[in-house]
Amino acid sequence: MRITVKVGTSTLTHATGRMDIRRIESLCKVLSDIKNAGHEVILVSSGAIGMGVGKLNLKERPQDMPTKQAAAAVGQCELMYAYDKLFSEYNHTVAQILLTGEDFHDGVRHNNFVNTLDRLLALKALPVINENDTVSTSEIAVGDNDTLSALVAVSLRSDLLVVLTDIDGLYTADPRKDSGAKLIPLVEEITEDMLRSAGGGGTALSTGGMATKLAAAKIAMDAGTDMIIVNGARPEILYDVLEGRPAGTRFQGRKKLEENH
Ligand code: GLU
Repeated sequence: MRITVKVGTSTLTHATGRMDIRRIESLCKVLSDIKNAGHEVILVSSGAIGMGVGKLNLKERPQDMPTKQAAAAVGQCELMYAYDKLFSEYNHTVAQILLTGEDFHDGVRHNNFVNTLDRLLALKALPVINENDTVSTSEIAVGDNDTLSALVAVSLRSDLLVVLTDIDGLYTADPRKDSGAKLIPLVEEITEDMLRSAGGGGTALSTGGMATKLAAAKIAMDAGTDMIIVNGARPEILYDVLEGRPAGTRFQGRKKLEENH
């Protein structure tokens, strides 16, 4: 299987912006094991701005573009340093790919990065993708890594997109506010109701939230790709996903639905 895994800032960092070492170590171990089992893995990782905030000792996530971009430039190094070190322990080689919205709109650029990624996978490397935050202004940015991960998963013909986040999946209401909220195990169609209860986004350090995850799910589903949202607090949950045990919320890709009916 070719699997795209997206990991968010809230999974990779503490609230301080400093790296959650235990979490990132276990993520790298599980992904290495999944590669050892013969799967192809593409990792879309946030965390550059968050880690830059920690490393530059900023008090909070910056609001202005130049400081955000500066934090991303610092944090991206820290992020890749950690991935390089941890994946090396399990004999896996990482490759950094930084993309912007333009790379998906411009046919030539799109072709170029897809070819590079295909070749990296053929060479058994593990591509680690993030938005190229230092050059992405709002007009040309994809904007959030949930959407970026769906565009990558579709472009690379992934069999599955797994989004690791800080909640167990999609709920009928916000489980932080409503104790009656129930996890939805399977979504075949994104409804207006889901979009309405998804609300706004993110934590103090990150961009996304349930709204961007639903937007990502729509891109994946329309292209016939399954997407699963699971809680990244325990990266071992990826074994459940791959071994077919119930986990999180599965958004069923459209082609599959048509084949089943
Ligand atoms: N590219 C941003 C970063 O690495 C994250 C964007 C997002 O959280 O969706 O910090």
